[in-house]
Parts: sequence; C-alpha cells; structure tokens
Amino acid sequence: MALVDATRVRHIFAWGPREYYRMQFEDLRLVEPLLRAVRTARYVHPTPIQAQAIPLVLAGRDVLGCAQTGTGKTAAFALPILQQLSDRSARAARPAGRVRALVLCPTRELAQQIYESFRTYGRHTGVRQTVVFGGVNQGPQARALRAGVDILIATPGRLLDLMGQGLANIASTEILVLDEADRMLDMGFLPDLRRILTQVPRQRQTLLFSATMPPPIRKLAGDILHDPVPVQVARVSSPAPSVAHWVYHVEKPDKPTLLVRLLTQTPHTRALVFTRTKHGADKVVKRLVKAGVPAAALHGNKSQGARTRALGEFRSAQTPVLVATDIAARGLDVDDISHVINYDLTPEPETYVHRIGRTGRMGAVGTAMSFCTSQDKDNLRAIERLIREPLRRAADLLENGGLSPDPSRAIPHRALQPRTHSILPGRSPSKGSRGRRPSPVPAVS
Ligand code: AMP
Repeated sequence: MALVDATRVRHIFAWGPREYYRMQFEDLRLVEPLLRAVRTARYVHPTPIQAQAIPLVLAGRDVLGCAQTGTGKTAAFALPILQQLSDRSARAARPAGRVRALVLCPTRELAQQIYESFRTYGRHTGVRQTVVFGGVNQGPQARALRAGVDILIATPGRLLDLMGQGLANIASTEILVLDEADRMLDMGFLPDLRRILTQVPRQRQTLLFSATMPPPIRKLAGDILHDPVPVQVARVSSPAPSVAHWVYHVEKPDKPTLLVRLLTQTPHTRALVFTRTKHGADKVVKRLVKAGVPAAALHGNKSQGARTRALGEFRSAQTPVLVATDIAARGLDVDDISHVINYDLTPEPETYVHRIGRTGRMGAVGTAMSFCTSQDKDNLRAIERLIREPLRRAADLLENGGLSPDPSRAIPHRALQPRTHSILPGRSPSKGSRGRRPSPVPAVS
C-alpha cells in the first residue's frame, strides 16, 4: 500500500469539493481499529469518493459508484465492509466456512491489489480475507477457503471453478461488490457474472463501481442493485486534470524509432507503453532492449509468474518501462508512473481514459503521449470528443519529412527535453514536480 505524503494529499483536494478538504476519517464514524490502520497508511483526509461512499455503505445502502481509478475507490468500499463484518454481533452470527463479502473484479493483478488493501485496512480487525484468481495452482487458494474466510476477492472464472468443486460457498454473501464492472463486461465476463449472481442471496447489499457508465452497465446495475445511491466524483470519462496530453503524428514503420528516442531522451520515473496486441508488446520489448532500454512485457499470454515478476520489477523501477496490452489499462496501482505512451492508439475512446489513468494518480503530474498514424485519425477525434479537449500536437513528423534527426523537434514538453542528469533506469525526476498541474507548453513547429 503506497504511503501518500501531505503534499500529495493536499493536491487531491485542490480539485475535489472543498467540504471534503476539512473532513477527517473520524467524521466518518469508523471504528478505532480502522482509524489506526488509516493513520498507519498516512491518509490524512478521506478522498471525495470515500467521504461520499463510506457513510452510505455503513448505512447498508446499495451504491452505484462512478469513479476514476486513483481516487481512493478501494478504501471507499473496503473500510465500511471491514467495519460491518468486524461488528461483534455480526461476527457472532457468522456462518462457519462461508463467505460474507464477495468482491469480483476483472484481472488477477487487480484482485491481488484489492486483497492487499483489505489486509492493510483490516490488520487490526480480525476479519479474514483471501484472494482467488486463475493462472496459478488452486491448492493454496482451496486451503485458504477451507480454513474459513469472511471476505473473498475473486476473478469470476476461478471463482466458478472453485464453486463447481464445492470449495467456495457464496450462499451466505451479505455484501457483494462488482469492481471495474465495465471492464468485466468488456472482457466477456457477463455470463460468468450472471451465473455467480444466481448463487448469492437476493437479500444482500450490492456495490457496483465502474469508471464509465455505458448502457450495458446501467442495465446490469438496474438488474442487481436495489434502490442504489449514485456516487460520482468526476465527470464520466474525464481523465485526471494533472495529465498533459500529447499526440505524435507518425506512420507505423517510424514508431519503434520514435519510441526509443522518447524513452532514451525523456526523463521518466516509470513509463507504461500500450500496444494493441500481445505479439506487438513482445516485439516492442525486443526492440527497446536491443536499444539498451530495460523493458518488460505484460500481457495475457505470459505465465502468472512472469506477470508478477514484470509488475514487481516495474513497481521497484528496476525495469522502468513496461509494455502492456489493455490488461494493464485499468486498476493497476503503481505509484509514480510519469509517462503513459499509446504506441498503438486505441479505437475505444474510453480505453484511452483508462490507460491514461495509470499516470497523474492522486494529483501527481503525468504525461500521456499517443502515436497517431493516418489510419488513427478518426480514433483520435473520438478521444478528443470524449475528453473534451484536443490532444496537443507534437512536431508533426510526417509533415516534417519523417523522423527528424533533431530529437528536440519531436519532444515538445520542456520537462521532456534532455536534462543534465542522465536518465538511468530507476532514476526519478525531482519529486518536486509532484502535485503541480502541467504547465502550458509551447508547441514545436
Ligand atoms: P485506488 O483508487 O483505490 O486504487 O487508490 C489509489 C491510491 O490512493 C492508493 O495508493 C491508495 O493507497 C491511496 N489512497 C487511498 N485513500 C487515500 C487517502 N484518503 N489519502 C491518501 N491516499 C489515499
């Protein structure tokens, strides 16, 4: 769990509603064991989504939450769930060996992250949680379930497997959470979700969180939520305001050279590069490594071990460049990603928002760079319509006759110009850049 210093916390509220700035966690009537855990995590004020959702969840209401990633959404549901389950009278009535709160999410990485958040916040409560996801041996997961858990965090496929073998019993679920619901639908989990929903009691509390609210999500919400309270902390599909958006007009054969150039000449803490395909991600990694840029790939064809290792080395900045498919676009909580690079522009504008959500988290400054070929122009327009601002145009490489030998022509941001310090792997640009809005940058002709 990342620790957040006071400067960052102040900045969250520089763009959050004023009244939340003054709010304390104590005002939310959280019990002492949770307040203690929150203090240890060095959270000073609840974020807007926490301030809104925690009292509602504690009051037993269903919630339909629309929130960007990086807004503190996990604690917004984890803290009140832990409080409800740690309540003594409720514990006394605990059915043996049965799950009481079930959290469903789309990817293994997100499941692991949510599990760690529950452990962090619940460390003084005695509430037991475990996580199950596919791609790994189910033995330890089955053992943890047999030992008894109160909270189960799961991806839908593995949960159904375990239920089929009689290893997971969700028939006593009191609270059901669907996190990143839009992503679960995009990944084709709707039939799995419907099967799981037939196994949980009708009488329950349900919380549904989604970064976007397209019609299929509204329909699902209408089917499974009871008189929900909508909670929204940002305009639907708006990227964090602290991210600067740049577009590079470049044709496909020139993309690798441009990427190498940007990564070798741009100070970055961690850069996340998105490709359309798994094969594309592997190819980009090969090219970067050949050019001396340490990079790793993260996509669905990698074994769970390789995915965990790639993510771990990215988190520690040992390998500060991660090349990923959209599996990494949502939910990943890695601090200090200074750059998101859309090597392949996505045809889905909402995916752009999710990808970009990996940087500029919790008020930090971030830079998004998108490569746009002549075939991507419609996609670019759709993205600009959705985020309601044009991407700033970097040197138009095509009009300027291909890649310029002068890298500064391709690098518009002052912060992106080569600096006097070398850009060694793991080196961070000054922490002082955190929390400031991106400064307006003159476009390079
Ligand atoms: P999430 O949106 O749940 O992925 O949270 C994003 C990041 O915000 C995580 O690193 C959390 O540790 C951090 N965080 C959550 N709540 C707070 C808070 N009230 N104050 C400061 N940081 C927080």
